[in-house]
Amino acid sequence: MKITNKHGVPEPLVTLASREYYTKGASQYSVTELLSPPKIKRLREQYNEQIEQDVSDMLWQMLGSALHVVMERGETPGYVTEERLFFEMDGVTISGQIDLQKETPDGIEIMDYKFTSAWAVMQDKAEWEQQLNVYAWLVHKVKGKKVTGLRICALIRDFSRHDKREDYPDSPVHMMDFPLWEPEATEKFVKERLHLHQISKMQFELGEELLPCTPDERWMSETVYAVKREGRKTAIKLFTSIEEAQERAAKEKGYVETRLGEPKRCTGNFCGVAAYCTQYSEWLGNQPGGDAGAEC
Ligand code: SF4
Repeated sequence: MKITNKHGVPEPLVTLASREYYTKGASQYSVTELLSPPKIKRLREQYNEQIEQDVSDMLWQMLGSALHVVMERGETPGYVTEERLFFEMDGVTISGQIDLQKETPDGIEIMDYKFTSAWAVMQDKAEWEQQLNVYAWLVHKVKGKKVTGLRICALIRDFSRHDKREDYPDSPVHMMDFPLWEPEATEKFVKERLHLHQISKMQFELGEELLPCTPDERWMSETVYAVKREGRKTAIKLFTSIEEAQERAAKEKGYVETRLGEPKRCTGNFCGVAAYCTQYSEWLGNQPGGDAGAEC
């Protein structure tokens, strides 16, 4: 991947961004890769030389790396920091680096740090629950120890003391507990993820079409219908049902504006490979005013 510096930030920051802090060691899959969509992993490998990322877009990633470096210096009795565990399953080595393990008489409590937004901690975070449970499974398999709890320590980068919304975090450091799965259920989940990645790898090697990203993996937003009135800039109300929107529009003597759902991971290029993805270019081509089949 090429790191660009479009905004002329100081060179040491570019050096920092270019340095590889994160390593999956001798494993074929890190837990993060295993949980991410197989298509993204294959496209990233295929286009690694061409992919560009500007240093200005890597701020939070760099702070995340910096936190890992700082963590390694913060040794505290009763805690294991930054331990990478390896486990071989079906001939494939999987590894996961656990930020923090608190050792208690009953077992191990696993914690992971996340630099994130207030909005994110107010959502259902299935991927965090999956990640923590795969770490718990690794601890169970590799260390033979019982895991007693799973927690995320969310460091909220856009925290505001003035935001009074229900469920809004009450501090810029927000602890979140997640349910612990049975080890057998987690192992089944890991096998399924591995199987999907292996299918994708085989398709890639044979030059076949890759397994598509699912709507969830593409962060597909819902189509909504905005009830509007001439002369008013904002919508009166948003509906997910067109019938309800039309009914309300009739009462308001207004009209309905359709706001089509979109795959936000693709449109924002949060996967980093949108420019090389035919699934995305096909979606673009099928949009109103889009050029069907256009290259992006
Ligand atoms: S552009 Fe969208 S569909 Fe393509 S790899 Fe990225 S997330 Fe998946």
